[in-house]
Amino acid sequence: MEKTIEQLEEHRSGIYRQMAAMGDFRPGMISVNYRKCGKPNCVCASKEHPGHGPQYLWNATQKGKSRAQLALRARTGKSARGGCQLQTVRTVVSGSH
Ligand SMILES: [Zn+2]
Repeated sequence: MEKTIEQLEEHRSGIYRQMAAMGDFRPGMISVNYRKCGKPNCVCASKEHPGHGPQYLWNATQKGKSRAQLALRARTGKSARGGCQLQTVRTVVSGSH
């Protein structure tokens, strides 16, 4: 079913409202990472297993230095706040389809 321009504009402004409510964005990019822990008896040891994850790695270049950290690592501190925003961004993006 085709959406009308009005519906699309309404949807877009809804996304803008959600993004405005998120506050600051951090510069950088998020990469998704799957990794094997290396334990021989773990499920990830089989060839078919993609590895543990996804883990979201936040990469940014600040003051000329490249930084990477797990976006969803901890529930305390700044990275946790970034993780919450990431979750919200993903929700917003997937909701637009
Ligand atoms: Zn494992």
